[in-house]
Amino acid sequence: MNQYHAEPYKIKMVEPIKKTTKKERKTLLKNAGYNPFSLRSKDVYIDLLTDSGTGAMSQEQWGALMRGDEAYAGSHSFYRLESVVKHITQYDYFIPSHQGRGAEQVVLPEFVTHDDMVFISNTHFDTTRAHVEIAGATAIDCATPEAFDTSTYHPFKGNFDTQKLKKLIETHGKENVAGVILTITNNSAGGQPVSLKNLKATAQIAMDNNIPVIIDGARFSENAYFIKTREEGYADSDILDIARETFALADVFLMSAKKDGLVNMGGIIAINNDETLYKNVRSRLVPMEGFPTYGGMIGRDIDALAVGLKEGMDVDYLAHRIDQVRYLGDQLRHAGIPIQYPTGGHAVFVDCKAFAPHIPYHQFPAQSVVNELYLESGVRAVEIGSLLLGRDPKTNETVDTPLQFMRLTIPRRTYTQNHMDVVAEGVKRVYSKREQLKGLTFEYEPPVLRHFTATLKYVE
Ligand SMILES: *Cc1c(COP(=O)(O)O)cnc(C)c1O
Repeated sequence: MNQYHAEPYKIKMVEPIKKTTKKERKTLLKNAGYNPFSLRSKDVYIDLLTDSGTGAMSQEQWGALMRGDEAYAGSHSFYRLESVVKHITQYDYFIPSHQGRGAEQVVLPEFVTHDDMVFISNTHFDTTRAHVEIAGATAIDCATPEAFDTSTYHPFKGNFDTQKLKKLIETHGKENVAGVILTITNNSAGGQPVSLKNLKATAQIAMDNNIPVIIDGARFSENAYFIKTREEGYADSDILDIARETFALADVFLMSAKKDGLVNMGGIIAINNDETLYKNVRSRLVPMEGFPTYGGMIGRDIDALAVGLKEGMDVDYLAHRIDQVRYLGDQLRHAGIPIQYPTGGHAVFVDCKAFAPHIPYHQFPAQSVVNELYLESGVRAVEIGSLLLGRDPKTNETVDTPLQFMRLTIPRRTYTQNHMDVVAEGVKRVYSKREQLKGLTFEYEPPVLRHFTATLKYVE
C-alpha cells in the first residue's frame, strides 16, 4: 500500500513552467543581487517561496466566481460567505477583509486600551507582530521549548508554554495583557500544530485572568487534521467538529484566507458574542478596508472563498496535503539532511545552522543554501532566519536565532510528487557540497523589512 495519500483530484488545466540552464541561473541570480525575491517568477522552475495565495482553485471555485455579486452594499456573495463562516465557527458576527493583515489592522487596536500593554502568542506571525506594535503594544512569544529542538520528535511543536504564560501574566499584570493570540498552526515555528489539550489549557489561563482570546487561524484546517491524526481521542472526529471545538475557546477569529481558504486573496474576521466589539471593528473597517459587506474583497472572490473554506476542510484533501509535505521531508531526512521534525502543515524547514555550521548567523547560512538550491535546480525557497529577523532596535545588531531555516513552502494542489523529487534531488546536491558554501553580506540594506529588497554579495 502507498505510504502517502495520493491526490484526490485530477488536472483539468495546466500552466507551463520552464527549466533554465545552470549557466542562465548564475546570471539571473547575480542580477537579482543574490536575493531570490528579486527573481522573476518566469525564471523559477518550482516556486516554493510561499503557500500564501499560490494554490490552485477547484472547478467549483471557478464556477462560483461567475455568481459573484459586485453590489457595493449587501452583496449576495457576502451573505453566502457569512453563512459558511458562521456554520464553521458558530460565531455571531462576520466581516471580510482584503487579507490577513487587513483583519489584524482593524481588530488588534480594539484591545489596546492603555499604554504598555502586551499581546502573548505561541509565536506572533510577522505581520501580526507589526500590527501589535503599530497599535502601541508589545508582542511576546511564548512557544514550547520543543519548538527549538528541530531533531527530536514531538507531535505538537506549535504548543504554548503554559507555565511561561502564567508567569508572563503575573509579571506584566493581567490588566496589561491585551490578548492571548493562538496562532494555528504555528507558522514561524515551522507550520507546527497546537494540540486541543494545549489550546484548552491556554484559553483557560486567559479566561481565569479575564484576557481576550484571539485565534490567528490561517491554517486552522491543517491544525485540525493534525489533531485528528496525532492527538489521543480525536481519530474518529470530523475536521468540522475539531475546528468548532477550537473556535469555542476564543472570542475572535482572524484568518488570512490565502492559506486554508484556498483563494489567492482574502481575509476573515469572525467575532463571538461581543456586539460592541463587532460594531467598533466594523466602524474601523470602513475607512481602512471598505464597506462591511466587501471589506476590500471583490464579490466573485468572496464566492470563491465560500467554496474554498469548505474544500480546505475536506479530510481527503488534507490527508494528501499533509502527506505531500511529509513526503518531501522524508526524502531529505533519509539523506541525512537536518529538518524541523516532524514536518508541519505547509512547508519543510531545513535547519541551516546544522546544514552549514561554518557560516555564522550574521552571514545568513540559510540564504546561502537558498541561493545554491536555485543555482542547482531552479527551485526558489526562502530564508527564515537572521536575514528576515533584521536588526535589534536597541543595539542595531543583526538578531541571532537558533532557527536558521530554509523554508520549502508547498502551494496547495499545485505541484506533483515528481516536482517534490526534483526539489529533494536539488537539496541533496547542495548538501553534498555544503562545505563549499559561503556566507553573504549586504551590498544594499533597506531600513525596514530588509529581506524583501536587499542586495547581497558573497564574503570572500
Ligand atoms: C499569512 C499569515 C498572516 C497574514 O496574512 P496575509 O494574508 O499575508 O496578510 C497572519 N498570520 C498568519 C499565521 C499567517 O500565516
